[in-house]
This record gives sequence, structure tokens and C-alpha cells, in this order.
Amino acid sequence: ADTGPAAAQEVRTVCCYCGTGCGVIAEHDGRRITAVRGDPVHPANFGRLCTKGSTLHLAAAPGGRALFPELRNTRTEPRREVDWDTALEAAAERFAAIIAEHGPDAVAFYVSGQLLTEDYHVFNKLARALVGTNNIDSNSRLCMSSAVAGYKGTLGADSVPACYEDIAVAAHLLIAGANPAWAHPIVFRRIEDAKRANPELTITVVDPRRTETAEFADLHLQIAPGSDVLLYNAMLHVLLWEDLVDRDFIREHTSGFDALRAQLAECSPGNVAAACGLPAERIVEAAHRFGRARAALSLWCMGLNQSHHGTASNAALIHLHLATGQIGRPGAGPFSLTGQPNAMGGREVGAMATILPAHRDPADAADRAELARLWGVPALPETPGLAAVQLFDALADGRVKAVWIACTNPAHSLPDQARVRAALEKAEFVVLQEAFAGTETAPFADLLLPAASWGEKSGTVTNSERRVSRVRAAVPAPGEARPDWAIAADFARRLARRLGRPADGFAWADEAAVFAEHAALSAGRDCDLSGLSHALLDAQGPQQWPFPRGAATGTARLFTDGRFPTPDGRARFDPAGFPRRHALLPEPTDARHPFVLLSGRLRDHWHGMSRTGKVAGLWGHTPQAVAGLNPVDITRRGLRAGQLVRVAGRRGEVVLPLAADATVAPGQVWIPMHWGAATLARPGANGLTSPATDPLSKQPALKQAAVSIAPAELP
Ligand code: SF4
Repeated sequence: ADTGPAAAQEVRTVCCYCGTGCGVIAEHDGRRITAVRGDPVHPANFGRLCTKGSTLHLAAAPGGRALFPELRNTRTEPRREVDWDTALEAAAERFAAIIAEHGPDAVAFYVSGQLLTEDYHVFNKLARALVGTNNIDSNSRLCMSSAVAGYKGTLGADSVPACYEDIAVAAHLLIAGANPAWAHPIVFRRIEDAKRANPELTITVVDPRRTETAEFADLHLQIAPGSDVLLYNAMLHVLLWEDLVDRDFIREHTSGFDALRAQLAECSPGNVAAACGLPAERIVEAAHRFGRARAALSLWCMGLNQSHHGTASNAALIHLHLATGQIGRPGAGPFSLTGQPNAMGGREVGAMATILPAHRDPADAADRAELARLWGVPALPETPGLAAVQLFDALADGRVKAVWIACTNPAHSLPDQARVRAALEKAEFVVLQEAFAGTETAPFADLLLPAASWGEKSGTVTNSERRVSRVRAAVPAPGEARPDWAIAADFARRLARRLGRPADGFAWADEAAVFAEHAALSAGRDCDLSGLSHALLDAQGPQQWPFPRGAATGTARLFTDGRFPTPDGRARFDPAGFPRRHALLPEPTDARHPFVLLSGRLRDHWHGMSRTGKVAGLWGHTPQAVAGLNPVDITRRGLRAGQLVRVAGRRGEVVLPLAADATVAPGQVWIPMHWGAATLARPGANGLTSPATDPLSKQPALKQAAVSIAPAELP
């Protein structure tokens, strides 16, 4: 019986939006989350929250949720409500049958940086140790896999060396391909604080758009889209030419510099200025600011990562730090910001096709053998797994027949939506494990499994600065929704029985037991968090890894001794970042498609707006999707702001109102990525984006595509 609201209670947890990882105190009455405020003692935010974080309780309000398992037997019938037993037995039967007939690589798992570390761990063990496939990838592939490849190629491991405190003590910030004022607002508050407190601090922003972050900077390099590799190499050319490099650091702590130097000659500011769309003197100025700074910190995000040469962009930027010794000391280092709340946790877990737990390598036989021993299975699969875009291609051509999608919305977020939707249509069996019923992917699901959401589940996440925090449930999940890890473990036990394998590896008592198994896998690795447990985090609060067994505290800053996790202990100037002739854009513009599409995020919305779309106050900043065009182009094309335009590319088109937007350079059009088929009745920006991927990181080039713009009427 409803006995009315209980007295307000409070739970300490973490915001579920961006990778800043802000601590949140959620007030609840036992049934609903009634209010939130920033956690004053959480080291990521010290009580601050942005517009999204401070409205989490409104986003968590009822409505739009998947409440019961739903199953259909054929594509022509609607899904009907079933109980959990029926749902998971049906899934186990279909997966077991497909594995028996076609082998383990005929199934795949596509998971999410929204998942908690414990959820990630169970899915990863299910795919690799039980099914025997490396076909598990994450939507973090769309977010930061180029940063992973960049770090591994240069530093020897996917270990972010810096921390938020470095912002306060840096003398120079190079913010590249990121707009933290909108995408990581509490990180940006730190930048504002640092600028106020430290007159010495200078800020350079590299971005094709004049964003709010660019407005705040001392120097904005409004580069031609995709020209960043050339820019960073040209800056290094200047540093070398003017002897602003740290020759001692290069000699003592790095390898490969001579090979890079031989190629830098062609990359003078004068040679690349036109391609970068910048005056040569601005490149020289940016190099001086970086090279002369007492401590230089770079911050970057999707602008570098979401590129068909994302690994090169990352490596070229990290090279600036290696050449100047700007790493491993306060205020200095290459600091990639993560997009999603637990993108970093997914990297630790290794729940991506190209990595194994604790940064092990699936291509390394010794790493596979060690992990098989730790997991108590005879062997782990050797066949390389499929990364996100390739996974859906394999679904389209029948190599993969069943896919389990958890906590992500590929029918909105992957590039080239026509291909993705065709793949989901073609699939024999699609399982969607999801908290929200109305996502663009839901209509493709043969089996919909309701998942618990923020405020309803417990575990851990790791933020951009390697800080592991406890996430805690405040209220029960609605309907029959269950925590993601528990759904995956229940399915694994049922599948194990059908495959005739032991199921005891999937019988954890609770989330804490899952975390303990995950943490134990990392002992002795660069991301060692074997000293962490739910109990320790509850007692001592959030901690940064490495945190080996027996440690008293975590580690704020890495590589302080100048040694790197490479075979010779030296960081590398990675040939991936050398100034080779990269095509700047994933596809060329031409007479038919003369504009460069730029896609990106808004300040007050998150991904496909399943949560933020429910909060009326978050619609005030940008009330509708628009195509933003420079006023010069609007005049030149005889268009007018407010009219509907058809933005058409080589793979699709989208109709949107036109907005005059002086932050966009002439020749470019900007469309936010949040709107899709659920809100526009057709795919949004990703109906236009290219499936081209970086050859090393497999990250798709979601940022740019070639498009045309013409007047349109409502379709
Ligand atoms: Fe949440 Fe990110 Fe805002 Fe912090 S900055 S409150 S983590 S959305």
C-alpha cells in the first residue's frame, strides 16, 4: 500500500552523463529521487554540478522506461510481454543454436560506456570465456579508441598521465578538438578558476568552430577540419627549429625522435598553413606558447578522436609533450578527456574487441593464456574481434547472426544509419538490454530486456583522471527492470548449461564480488587497482589508479620518474603520428557536396536525449535541432535563417531549420548529434556521417562528412 513519502534520505553517487565523473548526493523518499546536489567532498567536482547534473532527479522521473521483458518469435509480429525466465531461456536457446551451427563468432555483444564497471566485466567474461568470441565492442569505440591507440603507441600503455589538479597549476593549456564549456562543464569551471587565479596561464584552443571554449581562450586556431596532424607537426617543427625542445628528456626518456625529425622538415608552418587554414604566424605563436610554458597541459576529446586519422592526431599531440618533457610533473601532460561516464572503466575491463582486461592485448598469446588461467578456462579465443562499425557490417552480410546490445542506441549513434538499420533488419536475432523503451534501436529488438538505470543500480565508474568512484542505488528500479550485470550473469548461467559448460564462473553474490574479480585481474599491470574494493571505496572515497594491493592512497600523476611501460622504459615517437600525407577529411567535398558537415554536442543534452529530453528546463538553451551555417554562406546561397533546408550527403539527407551561426566557418555546416529518428522521424546527423574508420583504432570519423544544402519543404 502507498503509505506516502518517507522521510528524505540521501545516497552518495556519481553523475551518469559525462566523463568528468562528478559526485552527486541524491535525495529520495524510498520510491523516487526527489532532489540532487553536488557532493562537496567528491574530488572531481567539490560540490559543483552543471545543468545536466543538477537536473538528474528530473531526468530520473518515471516515463519512457522499459518495464517488462518483451519477446517476439517472428519479425512480423509485435513483441509481447513475457516473464524473465521465458525471456532469458529464449535468448539462451537462440544463442546456443547459432553457436552450435555457425561457431562462436556468429554472435556478438555491443555494450556501452554508460555501463558500470561490474556490468562491463560480466559481459566481457560472458563473450570471451564462455561463448569464446572476441566479438564484444563498446560504443566507447565511437568515443575514445583513438586516444587508447595514441597512448599505447607513444607511452606504451593506455594510461592517462595527468589529473584535474594539473589544470590549476599549468602555465599553458592546449585545448584541442574539445569544447569543455559545453561537453565537460565542471572541467571548464576549473579552467575558469585557473585563469582567474593564475595570471601566468595562457590558453590556446584548436577547433574548426568558434565555440564558447574558443571564445574564452587567448588564442583560437580555427583550423580547417581534419588538419590537426599537420598543425601539431608544424608546431613541433617550430619547437625544434627554435630549440624549444628538451634534448635531455628526449635523449634519456624517449626513442624514435631522429626518425620523426627527418620528416619534420617538410612540415614548416609556411608549408602547412594553407592546408590548416591558418596564417603561418598563428602556428608559430601556438608553438611558442606551448614550448615556452613552465608547464603545458593539453586537453582533448572528440575532435581528435572521431577521425579516420584519430590515432595520428593523438600521437602527434602527445609528441609535443615528449619533445618538450612536458609530462610526469605538476601542470604538464597529455590529458585525453573521456566522453562517457565510464569509458575509462571499459578500458580497464577490456570490454572492447581490441583490448583484454587490465590493458592486455588479445593478439598476445601470453596475455590470453594468463587471462584464461585467471578465469579458469582452457583458452581464450584468438580470432580478432569485430569493432563497432565492422560488427554491424558483419551483421549485414550474415557473418554475425545474433547481437546482444546493452545500454546503447546504435540506430542513432553509429555513422551511416542506412547501413546500420539494414544490418539490424537482416540480423536473425537482436537482443536489446535497455532502460528506455523509445530509443531508435528498440523497434529492431526481438527481445527487449528492461534494465535498471541511474539511481537504481550499484557499482563503480572511472572518470577521465583514472578516479574510481562508487555508484549507488537510491530507489528500486521500476517494473521488472534489473541491474545490467545481473541480467548478463543470469543469461550466462543459462547459456553455459545449454553449451554443456560450467556455470559457476557467473555466480557472483553481488556487485562487490564482481568488482573484486575485476580488480584481481589487474594486479601487477599498469592499471593496477587490486588494492581497491567496494568496501575500501565506501570507507575512503573515490581513488585514482594505480592502487595496488596494500597501497594507502591512489596515484594522481603517472610517469613522474621518466620511465614508461615500454620494453626499454622509454616513451616512443610513434610513426603513426608522423606528418605523412593523410587525407584531411574522410571523404572529399566536390561540386555536388561542397560543404563540410561538422557534428557535435550541445551544452544541455546528452546522446539521444532519453534522459535530458524529459527535463523541460534543458530545452531552453537550444530548443530544436538546426543546421548552423555561417551568415556569409547564407547570403551567398540566397537562403534565409529559419527556412527549412535539406542537408544531403552521399548516404542520406536530413531536413532541418537553418540557423545563422557565426561560430561556424564558411564552407561548413554544424548539426548537433542529439536528434535522430525518434525525434525527427528520420536519422539525424548520423544519416549523413561516413563509415570510414581509423585503420589503427577502428574509431569512425563521426565528425565530418561532405554535404550539400538546399531549400526544402517538410517531407
Ligand atoms: Fe555530470 Fe559531466 Fe555535468 Fe559533472 S560535468 S555534472 S559529470 S554532466
